[in-house]
Amino acid sequence: MKKPFENYLSTLKKTVEKTELDKDTTKKLSSPNKILDFKINLGNKSYQAYRVQFNNKLGPYKGGIRFHPQVSLSEVKALSAWMAIKTALVNLPLGGAKGGIKVNPKKLKERELKEISQKYVENIYKFIGEDKDIPAPDVNTNAKIMKWMKDKYEDLIGKKSPASFTGKAIKDGGSLGREEATGQGGAYTLQYFAKKIGLEPKKTKIAIQGFGNVGSYFALAASKIGFKIIGISDTSGAYLNPKGIKKEELQKIKREKKEGSSIKNYLIQNGKEKKLFESDKLLSFKVDVLAPASLENAIHKDNYKEIKAKYILELANGPITAEVEDKIRKDKIVIPDVLANSGGVIVSYFEWLQNRKNQKWNKEKVFEKLKEKIKKSFEEVWNEKEKDSLTLKEAAYVLAIKRLI
Ligand code: NAD
Repeated sequence: MKKPFENYLSTLKKTVEKTELDKDTTKKLSSPNKILDFKINLGNKSYQAYRVQFNNKLGPYKGGIRFHPQVSLSEVKALSAWMAIKTALVNLPLGGAKGGIKVNPKKLKERELKEISQKYVENIYKFIGEDKDIPAPDVNTNAKIMKWMKDKYEDLIGKKSPASFTGKAIKDGGSLGREEATGQGGAYTLQYFAKKIGLEPKKTKIAIQGFGNVGSYFALAASKIGFKIIGISDTSGAYLNPKGIKKEELQKIKREKKEGSSIKNYLIQNGKEKKLFESDKLLSFKVDVLAPASLENAIHKDNYKEIKAKYILELANGPITAEVEDKIRKDKIVIPDVLANSGGVIVSYFEWLQNRKNQKWNKEKVFEKLKEKIKKSFEEVWNEKEKDSLTLKEAAYVLAIKRLI
């Protein structure tokens, strides 16, 4: 399997070769501006950590921090590049960055989690800030960790700087709607796509791989629009209900998962074992739309043939490996991650704006502005695709690259 950054480079190269873009483009967007690569000591253990600042042509670097045992430099580089493409595509005055620590946070005590978060900031604080580089949460990081990091950063620079981190809790200056933003944005994207190709939401069946933050909020928002969610999964298993899983039940599962339960436990406790399947089985459910919302490379050479869906909504970053991307596109339409999951960074941008202007927007305003941004970007991508008979991903890259070069 190719490394994540090679996936990014492969899309970049393919897009440049197929379009009128200057051939120098690939070189210009092939490497990050800066890589911070360091170790964090905690007790007698040492953890590898990174912050990669990819491109800041359009504004301060922006991107989350991930805590995961599989974090690698290639992964953080890819995620930072995708952020740069994403912020350019949705026309934000921001660049792209990403950070990560190679650690399993579930094995750390609360006090150790705080210590590792704050030591991470000690290593990068000179290179970040509300006008330089604004981190946010990603996989396994959250509002509490952002608060610890922001507090440490303010200690180190000796002044208040609420806009230096986004994804904070509301009481700490976070934006209403940020928690739901990525899933909500994914649902808006699917709504515009469905309208374009004449799909009726109530006749459109969806399966969601990964019922975490993004997957669960997407499920609720899509179900509210009228789409039919018939399958969801997490690492414990997959739940299939061909008649559709009601919004109230999706909400219940989400609540129970938040308290530490799993899809498997939920089904067993509620006498629904017959609807429980192996996690990966979800890919073969008979649906119209498959929404991968777990991690990178979840769809690869050994499982892509199982997919029945005609449309793939990439809610996770880079969920399809480069080696199977072209094969999948022969008979399926992929709605690319840089558009489908851009809701998160869009509302992070709103949070940053509110902090800088000392404003508090209500949720209606946040979602209304989010919807407007997604609609505009979707239309631009669609028009670009029609103009040059490109795939939606190539069209999104062309638009972003033109703004970055
Ligand atoms: P999360 O940790 O909350 O959720 C991930 C879920 O995926 C978990 O429920 C986990 O059990 C499940 N999972 C992992 N491997 C799986 C597998 N093989 N099969 C089925 N389920 C599996 O993470 P998240 O914040 O929801 O992020 C998910 C993806 O979306 C990541 O790629 C992330 O980079 C991307 N993303 C997140 C945001 C955001 O705002 N959170 C924004 C943009 C992109």
